[in-house]
Formats: sequence, structure tokens, C-alpha cells
Amino acid sequence: MLIHVNIPQLSSRKTKIIATLGPASDNPEVIYNLIKAGANVFRLNMSHGEHESHRKLYRLIREAAEKLHQHITVFADLCGPKIRTGRFKNGSIILNKGDQVVVTTRDVVGEDNLIPCQYAALADDVVVGDRILLDDGKFELKVLEKDKQDIRCEVIYGGELKNNKGINLPGVNVSCPSLTDKDRADALFALDLGVDYLALSFVRKAEDINDLRQLIVAGGYDTHIIAKIEKPEALLNGQEIIKAADAIMIARGDLGVELNPEDVPIAQHQLIKTARAFNKPVIVATQMLESMIENSRPTRAEVTDVSNAVYCSTDAVMLSGETASGHFPVEAVEIMSRVIKQTEAFMKEQDIFGKMAHRDNEVKPLPFGDAVADATAQLCFDLNAKAIVSITSGGMSVVTLSSARPAAPLIAISANKWVCQRMNLYWGVIPIHAEDAGHAHPNKLARHHAVATRLANEGDNVIVVRGFHQDDQLSSPTITMLTL
Ligand code: PEP
Repeated sequence: MLIHVNIPQLSSRKTKIIATLGPASDNPEVIYNLIKAGANVFRLNMSHGEHESHRKLYRLIREAAEKLHQHITVFADLCGPKIRTGRFKNGSIILNKGDQVVVTTRDVVGEDNLIPCQYAALADDVVVGDRILLDDGKFELKVLEKDKQDIRCEVIYGGELKNNKGINLPGVNVSCPSLTDKDRADALFALDLGVDYLALSFVRKAEDINDLRQLIVAGGYDTHIIAKIEKPEALLNGQEIIKAADAIMIARGDLGVELNPEDVPIAQHQLIKTARAFNKPVIVATQMLESMIENSRPTRAEVTDVSNAVYCSTDAVMLSGETASGHFPVEAVEIMSRVIKQTEAFMKEQDIFGKMAHRDNEVKPLPFGDAVADATAQLCFDLNAKAIVSITSGGMSVVTLSSARPAAPLIAISANKWVCQRMNLYWGVIPIHAEDAGHAHPNKLARHHAVATRLANEGDNVIVVRGFHQDDQLSSPTITMLTL
């Protein structure tokens, strides 16, 4: 068999790119260039920065998006109960293997052999023999003894520990709630700002999502929720969490500290499949092009990681430090976009789209929406359709169609620009804001936008899908086939 790599690319990229903003990208020019390079979604990380700096970033994103006529998605990533070290007198300390150190919840500045931590219940939650991991698992302590506020530990793996680094407690039942007071304040701030999603960190069970949903609804918002899967408990409750959330993120940074590293790719495969089975978008995050924080070119292994995530049909891939604090933020998005396009071209050539199984043990009859989405994906092949057009009020039809991973681009037309922004996270979706959506004749609207987006020309086949409803009883989806 001939192995070739020069494959014609698709008219539009399907897998979306998320860029985290930070000091390397907190100005109008870089944000504009990130969008031009291919960023579809921006993450505001509430673990860093003040409300005012996030407000500024939000404004810059919306301004740049408007200039570039794009519906860009923005989400605020709430810290959740992330446990961190405090600050050290000289900014860092050295942990030497075999040394004894004290982790304390007293309000002190750290120094040699003394590590402050603001999480008050730490000493209650750990027991003698537990492991305390520091700075994304780079350093490890073993608990020797404890009293109310001080935990004496032995250094198992040492190094230089800097200010405010993350603490992970694998296997420990952390008692604090998933939605902290800071998260509530940050969530209310971000909702008022107008973000399209709130991401919740360290989700452990579906109720964590429901608590955040209550806060959103009580404020009169309908902002969607991304559940960050980064705890072993979240894997145990994976299906319930996926059902309760609107999307999930496989947050491999913390997940890889809490699990054995070799378990992370397995979790990734299963989470992508399960999320798709429930028509929930899924994001693969962290260290995708990590070496580009320092270098202008990624490693071959990183490029392969991005390509594999695309091949496994994730909705989006995320950049963190690469765009937030790296030296090459725009280049990181550019290379990520190129890798995605090339992988998708290969997938198209292999006729994989629309055929990626995503529902185990199907219970028949399927909900109408799922059946119509699968049928639409099949029709794309049979009609060689150049586009699917969905006219939607809340995006329900679009997220369902997207989950079937059809070969043709999915033009999602809504009269609501906030819905357009939200839908831009979804795989294969090109959102179009049209005031007359819902009033104009759907076929006329579909014909117009299929041509205006240059995805289809006269004589091409286009599939129009609409009529989905959240309530199965009210759902009456229809498929219309048009030749332009
Ligand atoms: C992660 O842990 O992979 C992640 C995305 O979360 P954060 O960047 O907030 O630590």
C-alpha cells in the first residue's frame, strides 16, 4: 500500500481550537492574531488575574471578533477547590529528598522546611502515609504525623518549589465543596460579563454541576457549563456528570497527577466516546504543544498527540501555557490548526466521518434527534452533500447533529448571536447570525447561506435539518434535501 501524506484539505476545519489568555496574550494585537491564526474559543482562567484584568480581556476578545466578523466563544474557568501552596520569603524553597518539612495551614510566609497552604481542612483530610503532590506532581511528600494545623512530611521527590503551586492529594477524600466562595463570586462576575460558558474545576459528582446551574439560573442566565474532569471520582461518576453538564473538558494536567500517567490516554478515549454518546461537546486539554512555551516548533510527540485527539474526534483541543505565558502564542495556534487540517483531510480521505461509532448498547427506539443526526450523517455520503444547514433557536439540533460527526460542514443559523457564540465550540459547526432565522422560509435561508459561505455552489446538494426540541414529546425534526 502506498503511504502518502499530500492530501487535499477540507474547505473548513472541524475541530476547534481553544486558547488560554494570559500575560503573553493580553493585548489587542495578539488576540486579533490568535483569531486570525485559528483560535475559535478563548479561556479566561480565574485561577490567575483580577476581575478587572479579565474584564479587559473579555472586551478585547469581543472587539477583535467583531473586526474579524467571527462568533468567538469565551469561557471563564472557575478554580474550584484547587489547593495551593502559599508564598515563600524568597519566592521559592529547595526540597531535598529525605528531608522533613512541615505543611501548615497557619497564616505564615513560607521558608526552608515550612510550606504554607490556605486550605484549612488539609490536616483533617489527610492521614499518616498519604501522599501530598506539589506543582503538578513534580514533587512528592509523605505524611509522617499531623496535628490540627501542621503536617510533618518526608520529601520523597524534591526540587525547587515556587510560590502558589498546586497541591494534589491522590486518593484523599477532599472535604471542601466543589463550588467555593471564590468560585461563586467569580461566576457571578463572569456571568455579568457575558461569557458563553462557565467551566467548573475538580468536579466530583453531578450535584457539583447542579449547584453551579442553580446559581446561573437564579441570576436569570442560561450560560452553559463545562465540567472539568480531573479527579478519579469524576471518572467513577462520569456518565452522570456528562449528563448534567453541557460539555466536558478532559483536564489532563490535574488528571495526570491524580491518576497514573498511563491511565490518562485510556480515560481520554472513554470520555470522548461517552460525551459523544450523550451529544455533549468534549475538549482535550493541557500540554498539547507544551514545548512551544519555550520553542518555536513543537516536538513530534506533541504534534502526534494533537493529531490523535482529532482522530478520536474530540470537539476541541486546548492550549494553556502555550498561549497564556509562552514565547510563541500565535505560532502555537498556527501549528495546531495545520495539524488539525491535515488530520481531518486524512480522515475525509479514509471516509471516517459520520461512521465513528459513538453509541454502545443502543436502546431502540433512539430519540428522534439522535436518529435524525445519524441519518443526516449517512445522507451526507449518499448525496455527496456540500453542507448541512440547521436553523436553530437554542443550538439543540446543532449539538446533536455535530455529535454524529457528519462529513459536510454544519452551517448553524440562529437569530440569537449569543447562541452563535456558544455553538462555535461544537465540532464542524460554522455559526451564522441571521435576524430573519425563524421567520424567513428555511429553504430560502439555507440556499442563501450555503452559497454565501462559499461551501456550496449551484447544482450542489445541501441538507436542511430543523425542528428539534429539548422535550422529546415536542421534538418533530425534519430533514429536507435541496439541490442549489
Ligand atoms: C488541567 O488541569 O489540565 C486544566 C486544564 O486545569 P488548569 O489549567 O486550570 O489547572
